[in-house]
Amino acid sequence: MYVVTWVVGLTGGIGSGKSAAADLFAAHGAAVIDTDAIAHDLTKPGGGAMPLIRAGFGDGVAAADGALDRAAMRAVVFADPPARKRLEAILHPLIREESERQLAAAATPYAILVVPLLIEAGDYRKRVNRIAVVDCAEATQIARVMSRSGLARPEIERILAAQATRAQRLAAADDVIDNDGELAALAPQIERLHGNYLALAQRLG
Ligand code: ATP
Repeated sequence: MYVVTWVVGLTGGIGSGKSAAADLFAAHGAAVIDTDAIAHDLTKPGGGAMPLIRAGFGDGVAAADGALDRAAMRAVVFADPPARKRLEAILHPLIREESERQLAAAATPYAILVVPLLIEAGDYRKRVNRIAVVDCAEATQIARVMSRSGLARPEIERILAAQATRAQRLAAADDVIDNDGELAALAPQIERLHGNYLALAQRLG
């Protein structure tokens, strides 16, 4: 599908503040397309990925309401690591298709495409015009995720270890959004970037 909108890929590690930053862009009127939300929709009861997931992994990975049973799926992937790739092979094309549909429908000068693993997934980098990274120290990420989800520190550290490093993300960034401080410090940064993106989209779009 033809992507008509100038696209900023917004990324950052777990708990860095991607959603908080995306909400501020949305408040300025930017279209925000969230690949995590799309993945969630695809795996909810009646979600478009569920027939393929059931066919690939059996009905045991579906909950009684038809949604993906995340704990059961985690157990499958834990027991059989290549299963993750098979799950991704089902989900990624559907996420891409839906995000491109939403991008094409976005009637704004630019769109924010939130992709948590943008740096890790090489092909997304080619599909965005610019990369904005929400940055904070790993200790800050861990503290935020612990207070949000109650996940234990070793579990969060394992997730962090599986993601790109802070340095890798910063090296790929066109724009860095500093979210190590107060939430209030985000707003002026997003306001400035919004102005830049409008100007860039008009110049290059
Ligand atoms: P994930 O990838 O895990 O979904 P995310 O990058 O989208 O996370 P958010 O959900 O925006 O991050 O933020 C993670 C948590 O930290 C949330 O509970 C949020 O309210 C909180 N948070 C975000 N930024 C700040 C900040 N500057 N100060 C304090 N708390 C913050």
